[in-house]
Parts: sequence; structure tokens; C-alpha cells
Amino acid sequence: MDKNLKALKPALVWKHFAEICNIPHPSHSEDAIRAYIVKWAEELGLEHKIDEAQNVYVYKPATPGMEDRKGIILQAHTDMVPQKNNDKVFDFETDPIEAYIDGEWVTANGTTLGADNGIGVAAAMAALEDDELVHGPLEALFTATEETGMDGAFGLQGGMLKGEILLNLDSETEGELYVGCAGGLDANITFKYKEQPLEGKFAAYRVTVKGLKGGHSGIQIGYQRANANKVLFRLLRQETESYGLEVAEVDGGGLRNAIPREAQAVIVVREAEKSIFEANVKSFEKVIIKEFEGIEDNIQIFAEEVACPEKIMPHLTSHSLIRAICGCPNGVQRMSMAMEGLVQTSTNLARVVSDGSTIKIQCLLRSSVDTEKGELAGAISSVFELAGADVELSGSYSGWNPNMQSPILHTMLASYEKLYGKKPSVTAIHAGLECGIIGAKYPGMDMISFGPTICYPHSPDEKVEIASVEKFYDFLLNTLRNAPKK
Ligand SMILES: [Zn+2]
Repeated sequence: MDKNLKALKPALVWKHFAEICNIPHPSHSEDAIRAYIVKWAEELGLEHKIDEAQNVYVYKPATPGMEDRKGIILQAHTDMVPQKNNDKVFDFETDPIEAYIDGEWVTANGTTLGADNGIGVAAAMAALEDDELVHGPLEALFTATEETGMDGAFGLQGGMLKGEILLNLDSETEGELYVGCAGGLDANITFKYKEQPLEGKFAAYRVTVKGLKGGHSGIQIGYQRANANKVLFRLLRQETESYGLEVAEVDGGGLRNAIPREAQAVIVVREAEKSIFEANVKSFEKVIIKEFEGIEDNIQIFAEEVACPEKIMPHLTSHSLIRAICGCPNGVQRMSMAMEGLVQTSTNLARVVSDGSTIKIQCLLRSSVDTEKGELAGAISSVFELAGADVELSGSYSGWNPNMQSPILHTMLASYEKLYGKKPSVTAIHAGLECGIIGAKYPGMDMISFGPTICYPHSPDEKVEIASVEKFYDFLLNTLRNAPKK
């Protein structure tokens, strides 16, 4: 196992990365890596600060003749995701990462490597340490605890950063420039009810929707996949239109950021309506399969007869619930005009679950345009409030709307093409990045996110491509040399 990372180029980057691997730094245990950064800044005589959220700021003045350039902030996060193989004996709080060279890649022995975002931290340190580099006013921002909730970015203080441009070094494909991300918001909805005894001749069924593809509600929402909750309640609404169907319980979806793949409800129909209900479920399945042809390939919708429940939801509750779920916006709401193919605003009707006295519903809203996210929250709230539910909005964070006229984007496009003879791809993500939150604290900050190629981050297979680190770092230095003028 070749563990000599310090022999790799660029030497300054790998020197710091090798040191970072020796310093345990899982999320929330970042004091040691912060101390490493502070000691380094002191040795170089660079001004530095730590704020209450444990973010580290390091400042370096422009080199002579470069004072007229816009200030640039290099930003990376200090924590890493601690994941290991089951058979690996390892303590992330105390053990150094066993990083080694494996052909074209650097990886770790049985654990995450922490190239996300250790390479970003190392690159920022290397750039500030490089005596030969010509640059304008330069800063480094090392944010705390990104991986478990972006604590550092949320706790960032105004007035600490002086530059107008921020380069986030936390992307994972060399040759891609990220220029936008989505903000998020949770809508938590509650219906309260008192179960009622079931009287009369009824048959009960467990109705199941399953086999859907699901996916991450930021990354796959644009694929127009079926939402199990929406499909289930569409069936229930259709049946209540033709005869009386009542709901005893419901359990649909799972995590709020996952497109729901399965949903179930226990419902009752009159004995006399059994055969029509069973036939309707079968024909409904055919309709849904047809509608999602080419998107979903394993949709299953079926009803199994079960023992009659003793109690059910009051008629008004299930009536309101069914109509509110059917009326609730879901999926892509708007595509970006700034960037083709980018979802701008979406919502995921993630969870619907009852427990005998409350029904809880969760929607996760995303948008790169904060005001649009607010409007969507208003629409969802309106639907459920009309239905008599309580709506609580929480966990709001800002998005980052792509600015295709950005000065640093133009500098970087030209710089990349000059270095590598081709254009980098310019892209955005419909999920949260630190840039969204930082941009909300520093309005007008001109931002780009980029990085070397890292495969399988957050898993024990994490690896970083050696050649891409050199390309990424050369590109970074070239960008600093060519920083836009004030
Ligand atoms: Zn990261």
C-alpha cells in the first residue's frame, strides 16, 4: 500500500491533505482541524478569526500590483462524513484515515477518505501559502459541520468576509462549474381527529401502491416519477365520488427528501360495494401504469381484504384529508429560465401517516428563488388550512439563483478554456449547498462551486482522482491570477 501522498503533485495541496488525514475530523469533532488551520495561519503571519459558529477566516492582502482586483474568498468545510465498512475496526474520533494511492486514485482503507472536503481545505491552504502566486485580496473561509446540517454556514456572521467573490471548493466533478442551488422549506401539516366506531355491514381492505422508483427529491424530482401518496389518494378520491368509502388508517412515504415509493391505507366499503371496489382498483392500476409508461416500470396497485377495523376516521376528516392531498401541489412547479433543464421550484409530498388521533403530512419544498418558495408554501398552506388542518412551516434556507452574467463565471470560463482547450460545463443543482446560505448572509456575493473528481463521497469507497486534483488546483490558481478588477 503506497501511503506517500506527499510525493504527489501539486505538492502543497497533498502536503496539507496528508496532514488532514492524520487529524480525526468527523462532523462535530473539528477542534483539531481548526487548530491545525490556526497554527498554520499564525506561522505564515496571516490574520485570522474564528466566529461563534466555529468558522475560521484567514485573510491575505493582495500581492503588489494586484490591489485593484476584487477580493476572492476560498471556501471549504472542515468536517467529513464518518463511514466505514462493517468489518473495519476504526474510531473516527481518534484514528487517522489510512489514505493510500491506488493507481490513478487516492482512497482510504475501509473508511471514507474525507476528500470531501479535505481536498478543498488543502487547496485553499495551499493557495494562501504559495509565495509565487500573484493574486488580489485573498481570504479563506473554513466552515464548520457542513455534512450534518450546514451549521457553520447557517451561523455565519455578516461583516466578516471582505471579498466580493466566493469560490466554494466542494464540488465533485472536475470540469464542472456550479452556479446555482436550491433552498428548502419543510411544511408540516397536522389533522387532529377522534376515531369513530364502525357500525353496519362493511368490508375492509388494505390498499397498497408499491414498486415505484422514488429517488432523491432534489435530484430526481424532474424525472416526473409517480408519487405513491398522490397515486393512493387519487384512487381514494375517485372511489368516494362513486360511493361511500371511509378511511381507517394511512401510511405513505418515508423520508422527507425521498420521493415516496410506497403507500398504504386501510379503508372500508359497504358489503354491497365490494365487487365494484375490487374491479375499480384493477382498472385504476391499468390507468396509472399507462400514464407513467416510459417513466415507471413496476407500478403495483392492489387491495387485499383484511379484518374490519373497530374504528375509523370521522367522515369529515377522511373527506377533507383525501381532497387536500389531491389538491396539494406536488413535483416540479417551475423550470429555470436562466439554465435549460434545471428545476427551479418543486415540492415533494413525502409523508402521510395516521396514528389513531392525528394525521401527519410532510412536504419538502425546494427553489433557487426564495420568493417562489414562499409562494408555493402559501399555496400548500392554503389547501390544508381550507381542509381544517394546522400547517407549520420550518427549516427554511435560501437558494442560489444562477447568474449567467456573473463576472467570476466569465473569468473562469475563459481561464479554463485557455488552460485545457475546452469549455467547462456550467450547471446547477436542485438541492442545498452552503453557497445558498452564504449568499443570503452576503447579498450580491458572486459565487462558483467547483472541485476535483471525487467518486462515492460519504461511503467507504470514496476516492479522489489524482490527475483531477492537479487540474482543479491549476485552474484555481489561474483564476486567482486573473481575478476581475473592482
Ligand atoms: Zn462536502
